[in-house]
Amino acid sequence: MPTTNWRARAACIPVPDLFIADREEGRAEASRRNREARRICEHCPVRRVCLSDALSVEKGNTASQRAVVRGGMSPSRRAALSKPERARLILDGSPVRRPAGPA
Ligand code: SF4
Repeated sequence: MPTTNWRARAACIPVPDLFIADREEGRAEASRRNREARRICEHCPVRRVCLSDALSVEKGNTASQRAVVRGGMSPSRRAALSKPERARLILDGSPVRRPAGPA
């Protein structure tokens, strides 16, 4: 299925702990973990589709799911996106893309 196959190519598979929010960790530790996570995302071959997926389902996620880096973007950065930016990024990484050409 095109909507789930991309997960098998995720660069975070070997380091899942960086992408799991820990209730016990302090702000500094969370910040360090998120920085490391973003470094992994920079080289991830499925970053755009991951970000698109995160932004399109985010409102339905639990707080701990929303509290982690996805698609190279921290939770606060995703929350700060404008509606048009969010819509563009969702479309940009969507597996179902509009064909190129005149509108
Ligand atoms: S972009 Fe980051 S969070 Fe998304 S699949 Fe890749 S490594 Fe994982």
